[in-house]
Amino acid sequence: MDHDADVIVVGTGNAGFCAAHAAAERGARVLMLEKGPTSAIGGNTYFTAGAIRTTYRGIDELADLVDGDDERLPYTDIDPYGPADFAADMRRVTLGRCDPTLTDTMVHGIADTLRWLHGLGVRFRLQYERQAYEVDGRHRFWGGLPLATVDGGKGLVAQHLLAARRAGVRIRCDTAVDRVLRDSDGRVTGVGAGADEFRAGAVVLAAGGFQANKLLRAQYLGPNWDLAKVRGTPHNTGGVLMAALDAGAQPAGHWSGCHAVAWDANAPQTGDFELTNRHTKQSYPLSIVVNTAGKRFIDEGAEIRNYTYAKYGAEILRQPGAQAFQLFDAKTAPLLREAEYEAPGVSRFEADSIAELAELAGIEPAGLVDTVNEYNAATRPGAFNPSIKDGLGTAGLNPPKSNWAQPLDEPPYLAFAVTCGITFTFGGLKIDTAGRVIDDADEAITGLFAAGEMAGGLFFHNYPGGSGLSAGAVFGRRAGVEAADLVSAHTYAH
Ligand SMILES: Cc1cc2nc3c(=O)[nH]c(=O)nc-3n(C[C@H](O)[C@H](O)[C@H](O)COP(=O)(O)OP(=O)(O)OC[C@H]3O[C@@H](n4cnc5c(N)ncnc54)[C@H](O)[C@@H]3O)c2cc1C
Repeated sequence: MDHDADVIVVGTGNAGFCAAHAAAERGARVLMLEKGPTSAIGGNTYFTAGAIRTTYRGIDELADLVDGDDERLPYTDIDPYGPADFAADMRRVTLGRCDPTLTDTMVHGIADTLRWLHGLGVRFRLQYERQAYEVDGRHRFWGGLPLATVDGGKGLVAQHLLAARRAGVRIRCDTAVDRVLRDSDGRVTGVGAGADEFRAGAVVLAAGGFQANKLLRAQYLGPNWDLAKVRGTPHNTGGVLMAALDAGAQPAGHWSGCHAVAWDANAPQTGDFELTNRHTKQSYPLSIVVNTAGKRFIDEGAEIRNYTYAKYGAEILRQPGAQAFQLFDAKTAPLLREAEYEAPGVSRFEADSIAELAELAGIEPAGLVDTVNEYNAATRPGAFNPSIKDGLGTAGLNPPKSNWAQPLDEPPYLAFAVTCGITFTFGGLKIDTAGRVIDDADEAITGLFAAGEMAGGLFFHNYPGGSGLSAGAVFGRRAGVEAADLVSAHTYAH
């Protein structure tokens, strides 16, 4: 394969594909370099549920984007969610640390970017089964995340690939980029991968974080993070991130922070190409969560799930054996997300008493019985409504359960064993709103761009569900446009 291109994109995830489409649309010859084999094209993006956070004035705006006519649509309630709402969620969950200009770019750019992707063939749907509850005959969405791609991450990658092929984008797999090449003026001229060198007028780095690298996890995230399971691709080991830092890029974002969730204890060490996201266990706001001693350690109902799930993986990692259990009873079992709680090989236990459930699951029985008795005594009467923060909180319990706190008292009882599953790391490269990589002197490195997990500055401590794909799409597209324009300004000799 020809080693030269106008624009090289490193990584074939959502951010990389968005950069490639945008650059190709502007006439650039694009070459994508991928570390994994052909089967690993798509990176972490392949493993996602395809949930994308976007902004909308109302349901009609979304109806224009989604496939087909869903018969539930007339009975569906979706509150408007504008850029100001998205920005407020970003500020709230990141404890005010998200970069304001990057955040502004993402929240104002995402709706148009999804329309652009739709035009390129990316298909969307409303995710009733994951983000809505049926209450009084109406399907009520909660948490600003109604939209997902058809067939999740697998569908998104398949649709990206089709669009890339149509545009003549070349993809070279089994190519682990390990260095960024710069000329004597500091301008980026390409990348290296072992003995190979690839030349281009601009390079977009979209090779993910370092979540699949145990050593870097222990080094940057801290003790025991080497024990977490990796939810997605085994290839995001931080090699390109480190190469970019070596080449002079400035680090940005939360280098000791990451996105990590409750993940099935039986899941493999790295992503499962067949079950992908089905190992996740996200109905915990309806449960109580305990450790092996039978003790609760989080407020399961602190917030709508989309605003707590990404930080609760770290809380599970802190428990003995990095293990926890989500407990449900006959009242809440029908509300569980089917794809997750009925996945093949799920670590599920069922019993008619709490003590028996503890024995089966490997929880300390006396501890669990005490916890459940104490919890049940702290619940209060009131109307349970899973589609809103219903205020049905416990009284006098530590930690409290602030919403959806119904007594756990109707057998059969269910326990699901979970551990910490790391999704992606928050530390990355400093970029500007055009996706240009910034160096240690706060200057843009000519010809170098970054997007997706590789770009730092948006996420700290926590994350609003569905924002990873949004960030990758907005900044990938911008980086692709800028990279192509930079090259066309200089050459386009072909
Ligand atoms: C199970 C799971 C579920 C998720 N669900 C969602 C969701 O529903 N919504 C959401 O917004 N986010 C979700 N996420 C997060 C989401 O995956 C990421 O935010 C997003 O996909 C990142 O896209 P990206 O292009 O930056 O990285 P990736 O998609 O990971 O792409 C990076 C690519 O770079 C390649 N690469 C790595 N190193 C090199 C190298 N040295 N040389 C060349 N190539 C290299 C990798 O192989 C990979 O293909 C989920 C993640 C997981 C794991």
